[in-house]
Amino acid sequence: MDLTSLTIHGLSDKLKKKETTSVEVTKAFLKRMEEVEKKVHAFITVTADEALKRAAEADGRIAKGEGVTPLTGVPIAVKDIFCTKGVKTTCASRILDNFVPPYDSTVVRKLKEAGTVILGKNNMDEFAMGSSTENSAFSPTYNPWALDRVPGGSSGGSAASVAASECVASVGTDTGGSIRQPASCCGVVGIKPTYGRVSRFGMIAFASSLDQAGPFTKDVTDSAIMLNAIAGWDPSDSTSIKAEVPDYRTFLTAEVNGLKIGIPKEYFIEGMDKEVEDSVKEALEVLKKAGATLVPVTLPHTEYAVGVYYLVATAEASSNLARYDGVKYGLRVSETGGLLDMYKKTRDEGFGGEVKRRIMLGTYSLSAGYYDAYYKKASQVRTLIKNDFDAAFRSCDVIATPTAPTAAFKLGERVEDPLTMYLSDIFTISCNLAGIPGMSLPCGFTKDGLPIGLQILGRTLDEGTVLKTAYAYEQATEWHKRRPKL
Ligand code: GLN
Repeated sequence: MDLTSLTIHGLSDKLKKKETTSVEVTKAFLKRMEEVEKKVHAFITVTADEALKRAAEADGRIAKGEGVTPLTGVPIAVKDIFCTKGVKTTCASRILDNFVPPYDSTVVRKLKEAGTVILGKNNMDEFAMGSSTENSAFSPTYNPWALDRVPGGSSGGSAASVAASECVASVGTDTGGSIRQPASCCGVVGIKPTYGRVSRFGMIAFASSLDQAGPFTKDVTDSAIMLNAIAGWDPSDSTSIKAEVPDYRTFLTAEVNGLKIGIPKEYFIEGMDKEVEDSVKEALEVLKKAGATLVPVTLPHTEYAVGVYYLVATAEASSNLARYDGVKYGLRVSETGGLLDMYKKTRDEGFGGEVKRRIMLGTYSLSAGYYDAYYKKASQVRTLIKNDFDAAFRSCDVIATPTAPTAAFKLGERVEDPLTMYLSDIFTISCNLAGIPGMSLPCGFTKDGLPIGLQILGRTLDEGTVLKTAYAYEQATEWHKRRPKL
């Protein structure tokens, strides 16, 4: 049997029954990487020795039956935005090319405590800015379903590594869609939890009021298992929420009788791909047959979401990225022309084009005289967007939409035109602005064999009902079982 094709729950069973060992599985993944990384490029750093060491430790615990969790010995990957103690963390930027963090992010610490084996750090768009992973300073990632297509972004490496079976699961981040859109493009399951549900400590900041970490997995059960491991209040992140974390697996009942699914008309727009629209509509019928009721809802401020996002996210980014100045850590260029010259040259050489564009946009909208007209106005409209969701959730339990207006696009197709690229996130951005949870799961394929994603949005802290809906759909369909041929 091909060990790399297993889910977390499948592998965990085998490990428990001693049908395989973590070392054996880890070796299988490292071999798989050797075969496919040349084509996919989902990793910036592979930590093979460390992984084998941790796998041996996991096998020791399994043999003794001590402290075993559903993740013990399971090989995973993390986006290169999460600080990893002693392991280079670049955020796919030249400015952090030589940065080795002295501590683990909370997400990584929790995953280590749960017993996972971290295989390496996934490729991404530089500082998580992008929708295609073409903004990585190192190399793009290629979509395992069609190597001339993008995997989505910014967590493209994380999504592609799961789709290509280079790891069982991975963790990415989502500021405006960066978990859900690549999950959709790569035919895997991705969930962005409620803002504050997962700690941001040690996760390199892009837009602090929007950033949130979440897992990529091969199915919904695995998603619940990963979320169980990483969710929860953290004293090191003052924006993390102090609330009980339920066992997300208890929501996986395949029981959606009486569940009300809101369908917002603003998410079925002209210009979206017909195949995407048809697949999503079919998916809604499947949920209806399973016992759910479809109710029309309206989110009237949706048309402002992309504009609001590019004001709020760039403003926060311009402030967050001010720390990369060549002084404390990271790249430093030229010390001969004085301090200001060193700042300028370091930032000029260290940041890529898209990051510079965002810093300039953000600095502009925060500057005196423009603050009220841009940043403040955007924050106000953000509240209206949140109010839309509150109103909609009075008449439904979850909201279902397409994840993205098209399937994965071709490499190079949108890089020259930032606005078209920004529009790739039209269906995912509002969720971050409102802080609510959102998920993408496979719901079909185009005739060219590209995956299509169904998005499910939920109420604040109600990841459970989102997972319940997704699980019911998954139980009734077979899409999640398809794997790309590489
Ligand atoms: N694609 C969006 C952007 O470029 C979202 C990125 C993200 O969620 N990190 O900002």
